[in-house]
Amino acid sequence: MKKVLSIALAVLGLMSCKNSEQQVKEEVQEYLTPFELGNGNQTATYQETIEFYERLVDDFPNVEMDHVGQTDNGEPLHLISFSKQEIKWNKANEDRIKILINNGIHPGESDGIDASMILMRDLATGKLEAPDNLILSVIPVYNIGGALNRNSTTRTNQNGPEAYGFRGNARNYDLNRDFIKADSRNALAFYDIFHKVKPDIFIDNHVSNGADYQYTLTHLFTQHNKLGGAAGTYLHHNLQPALEKRLADRGLPITPYVNVHGAAPEKGFSQFMDHPRYSTGYTSLWNVMGMMVETHMLKAYEDRVKGTHAIMEEIITLGSTNTEAIKEARKASFDRLEKANYYPIKYTNDKSQADTLDFMGYEAVNSKSDLTDQELLTYDRNKPFTRKTVYHNYFKAADSVRIPDYYVVPRGQWEIIELMRHNHIQMELLPSDSTMMVSGYKIVSYDTSSKPYEGHYPHYDIELDEQEFELRFRESDVMIPTRQPGIRYILETLEPLAEDSYFKWNYFDTVLQQKEGFSAYVFESTAQKLLDDHPALQKKFDSLKQALPNFAKSNAAQLDWIHKHSPNYESAHLTYPIYKYQRP
Ligand SMILES: [Zn+2]
Repeated sequence: MKKVLSIALAVLGLMSCKNSEQQVKEEVQEYLTPFELGNGNQTATYQETIEFYERLVDDFPNVEMDHVGQTDNGEPLHLISFSKQEIKWNKANEDRIKILINNGIHPGESDGIDASMILMRDLATGKLEAPDNLILSVIPVYNIGGALNRNSTTRTNQNGPEAYGFRGNARNYDLNRDFIKADSRNALAFYDIFHKVKPDIFIDNHVSNGADYQYTLTHLFTQHNKLGGAAGTYLHHNLQPALEKRLADRGLPITPYVNVHGAAPEKGFSQFMDHPRYSTGYTSLWNVMGMMVETHMLKAYEDRVKGTHAIMEEIITLGSTNTEAIKEARKASFDRLEKANYYPIKYTNDKSQADTLDFMGYEAVNSKSDLTDQELLTYDRNKPFTRKTVYHNYFKAADSVRIPDYYVVPRGQWEIIELMRHNHIQMELLPSDSTMMVSGYKIVSYDTSSKPYEGHYPHYDIELDEQEFELRFRESDVMIPTRQPGIRYILETLEPLAEDSYFKWNYFDTVLQQKEGFSAYVFESTAQKLLDDHPALQKKFDSLKQALPNFAKSNAAQLDWIHKHSPNYESAHLTYPIYKYQRP
């Protein structure tokens, strides 16, 4: 209403004495955030945040709000978007830079919640000159359940704000590990938002833990080699250095996320590897230039919020002035994958290369703890320094897979098919029952975490045996062509050895368990007949008995071995139930 009133007054000439700068100033005063109204150490509650955006949406035609999906808490996710021109979501908007900002995935790390409210208000009121080609979309609070779980204690080491939300969501998931396994409804709603906005740049706002140093701001860009192609090159050689320079010019030095725990950073450190379970790891599957902002936990809340605001402001400027180059780099990355034969599924730090940082740290002090009597690493803030520091930020592929033309997913794997659909993966249904030559994996061995991790007991150290065979598929089994924009998502989830594969996340555990067995006294005669009819098998059996004394002594082990080599043994056991098909 305010906006309408001021336009009406302006038309009547009642406000002609005021310049537009003054108008903007007054308008901004009408929309101050709880952070601005407080003592610099307060963050908006979830309700205050949504109400604030509702007012902006009501009063400014350039701001719109969507309610998307559901979260574990039962509330929908909100998506606030700003653009000077009308946004046609079903169109690609490919002439405009699209930036998506996520806040409050860890609601205790609230800096971005407040900074985004100010940013959106400043764009709406014109306090911040908005580029004509900008579409800015903001998720005000991603972890709504966590935000409602407000407290003043769970960020044990953090210097403000006075009260904030909790890291776990309504079901105690860490949502920044959930972008592939998608246990939460929040993740499903995020997929909807992500594929609606189709961002070029993604920012996820956080606060760091760990070492002490001089910086308020750190950036955690998605790993550039893993992003790969022209997009990875652009991120590494253009976007990151340009952002660093622009912030330094504003007196806001920034450093790469200090990925060090329990050691002095200036001894050198490696870049954080953001696998697809993390927000930026997920967005990089669509060649998006992603970054997490990590402000430093011990710096004043006011400075952290202002710094987060400054980063987003500079990313808007960089994005809107380099739109063509960013779009071209992303397109080249998509095109490259379209033609690639192999896809890397595992990375290792490439120690043969490194960048050097002029790292602004504090002198590390190894003292003795009065409490524990043991050694304790602390930092002396009276001894700041700038030191050349090795930064291992290059990774190389350690394993890769040949990209098949199709993955074939039997329709019984509906959970996988639904996840594919949520991720806008194009699929084809088999028109009729058909026998196809496919390749598939036998699971030779694997290990399983003995401790729960984010609601799972993930598998690791997996060994596979790939075989080709003919298999009968049924009508409406699903063929997933790999040559599509979501190719990386398909490979990262369906290849069991990929870092965040569905297999590792326990989606196929039912094939790890044998369903049918036998009674020894009944099977013994069948087993004897099998050996009699197959001399080669008998020979192998005899040699095993000779080589393995325990085997020779165990009735159960011997009969089990023969059963596993008999037609009675179920084919589903240890068979990965997704297949690969290559066009002839
Ligand atoms: Zn965080």
